[in-house]
Amino acid sequence: MIDYENLRKVNEPFFAGFKQVFSQTLESGWYILGKNVERFEQEFADYCGVGHCVGVASGLDALVLSLKVYEFPAGSEVIVPSNTYIATILAILQCGLKPVLAEPDLRTCNIDPERIEEQITGRTVAIMVVHLYGKICAMDRIMEIGQRHGLRVFEDCAQAHGARLRETKAGAFGDCAAFSFYPTKNLGALGDAGAVTTNDRAVAAKIRMLRNYGSIRKYYNEMVGMNSRLDEIQAAFLSLKLAGLDRINGHKRKLAGLYQQGLRADFVKPLIEDDFFDVYHIYNIRHPRRDELKAYLAENSIGTEIHYPVAPHRQKALHGMFEGKDYPLADQIHATTLSLPVSACHSEEDIVRVIEVMNRFGKGEGGAG
Ligand SMILES: *Cc1c(COP(=O)(O)O)cnc(C)c1O
Repeated sequence: MIDYENLRKVNEPFFAGFKQVFSQTLESGWYILGKNVERFEQEFADYCGVGHCVGVASGLDALVLSLKVYEFPAGSEVIVPSNTYIATILAILQCGLKPVLAEPDLRTCNIDPERIEEQITGRTVAIMVVHLYGKICAMDRIMEIGQRHGLRVFEDCAQAHGARLRETKAGAFGDCAAFSFYPTKNLGALGDAGAVTTNDRAVAAKIRMLRNYGSIRKYYNEMVGMNSRLDEIQAAFLSLKLAGLDRINGHKRKLAGLYQQGLRADFVKPLIEDDFFDVYHIYNIRHPRRDELKAYLAENSIGTEIHYPVAPHRQKALHGMFEGKDYPLADQIHATTLSLPVSACHSEEDIVRVIEVMNRFGKGEGGAG
């Protein structure tokens, strides 16, 4: 069996270190907002090449806090890709703002800069890009559009830890960026965790307050904040794993390279472009007979996932919000995309096996073997 993902195996190389920092943190008697969080924040800011990092409780909270800090008027519009994971849209809604969907570029599955401008109105305040699957968006164009229209630019970096466009890493382009350290992400904790990165000192200071009941001095509250803190224990685990992030990204890139070379041409593969350093949180292909392909791979003991089976505008939770609008490209991606094994726990042999089985799909010799 080749699992889609095996978090036990992914984390195994860190077990001894985890046990050690767990003991240290346990013995320290200090569990919330202490030295471990401070250290990880500094390390992660340095890693991303940004001035400030604020640890929070999840990727969703990181998105919410980055939007909240700007205090946009209620109902202001935020442009977001139509094929993102729903969390990006939920964060916009939680802040009392209006998500406006822009369709992706089918070649990259990232928001299409040409389609951003079509969506700008007098109420637009920001563009929220999502570096989906681990590939940076067309940030040269997008930053230029943002500047020309006086819009803030936010980055959802939940799938893009360490991804680059030339020398700039995810989290260092926009006004504010949100990271998730959900266990399956390229940098994953052993529970929920997230962070905001920014180059704006005042914004970072405000988010530090907002994540902790709007307070810096205990029992004195300056803002209506929330409780969204990164735990000391998760911060310690994340520091250990951050040291291994480049190795994990390198491994995923190597496996993606095998697919890229080995897979038959009728599987639509991710685009590789000069200047873009993609980290393949997800390695997805598109195929018109996706569901059949998924079932065929399962019969051959190969696990796959679909990111994502339902486009946001078709989710029950968002019913009525995008009435009368069509998002055919999002629909097309959601109907045809399939994510293949590409994790730190997979070997090159695993991937060679997946390629071999895939290349037999539909050739009348698809049986297990
Ligand atoms: C995982 C993810 C999130 C949410 O992160 P959580 O830590 O689960 O809250 C947001 N956006 C994208 C694109 C994601 O992949």
